[in-house]
Amino acid sequence: EPDLESEAETDNINVVIRVRPQNAQELERHDKQSIIFPGDGALHIDNQGSNKTFTFNVTFEPEAQQDDVFDHSGIKKLIDMSINGYSCTCFAFGQTGSGKTHTITGPPDVLSGANEKMDNSKMGLIPRSFRYLFQQLDRRKATTTYTIHASYLEIYNEQVIDLLNPGQRKHLSVRWSKTQGFYVENLFVIECEMLDDLQAILEEGLRNRQTSSHSMNDFSSRSHSILTLMIDSEIADPDDPNLYITKHGKLTFVDLAGSEKVKDTNATGESLVESNNINRSLLVLGNCISALGDSKKKLGHIPYRDSKLTKLLADSLGGSGVTLMIACVSTASYNVSETMNTLRYANRAK
Ligand code: ADP
Ligand code: MG
Repeated sequence: EPDLESEAETDNINVVIRVRPQNAQELERHDKQSIIFPGDGALHIDNQGSNKTFTFNVTFEPEAQQDDVFDHSGIKKLIDMSINGYSCTCFAFGQTGSGKTHTITGPPDVLSGANEKMDNSKMGLIPRSFRYLFQQLDRRKATTTYTIHASYLEIYNEQVIDLLNPGQRKHLSVRWSKTQGFYVENLFVIECEMLDDLQAILEEGLRNRQTSSHSMNDFSSRSHSILTLMIDSEIADPDDPNLYITKHGKLTFVDLAGSEKVKDTNATGESLVESNNINRSLLVLGNCISALGDSKKKLGHIPYRDSKLTKLLADSLGGSGVTLMIACVSTASYNVSETMNTLRYANRAK
């Protein structure tokens, strides 16, 4: 058994970088590259002649595969801790096209069709985590009873939409209670007894996310999606079999909206409000994380209330669990200013 408590105290926020490979067009055009990897997790950025080196504990270079990320990002520790009653969050940050969804979920076709047809090597962190979670629970089933519930929502323009009950795409309210903290009112929360149930939740949510992206331009790059597993356990007290020890863990995966600055300077009305909300909620998230990272401020004010995203992540960001931030970047020179922004954001969080 790992010493979960001391681990949780020492490293609340872990930051890893994932650099996506060049895509077909970039290769064909022989696009200029802006990143060199000197080794030991360092990234050397050539920003039009002005150079900067960032160092992170873990950097996944373009050759890294989905299983490398699952094995070496630290995600297994988050799953183990959430089984043990902690609240943990994994989120992907970066500009649109940098590989957030690829990393968190996998490519769009990875879940289409029956489970047997799935190309396992392409699966992202969520389906891999589901499998690992059930493997871990199976190992303990002689002594512990587990109940798993899942929810899947999207925050778009500061409005919460249930991806498991998209019927009218109603906007749900975020409320606060003494016992629950912040929660989404009337959100579908579905019990999952088997791996297939979790897989079905993911498929349903992704399908609904895709449907919305057809009707609205760039919808998925402008929304945050949040998949949450609530893991409740009950274990008989070894000293008194009539007593039960209960634990309530939570594991959350967040695929954040694209972090790029909105280029359309003529944006007005609706679209301006929308882009302000996106950039603002990412800024608030950054503020919360850096306030948490600064141990002196830990007992002071953390501005969770400034966005719906941070309200809903408050218990896992501020609790004794672990947050894993995966910062996604591209090597292409035409992306260098967004790459710099992402690495600065990541640097501030670590
Ligand atoms: P984002 O969610 O950040 O907007 P995506 O995950 O959709 O970006 O990635 C953009 C494109 O690049 C997709 O076609 C995706 O499949 C591809 N891609 C991203 N990262 C990788 C990777 N590590 N390996 C292979 N293809 C990738
Ligand atoms: Mg995406």
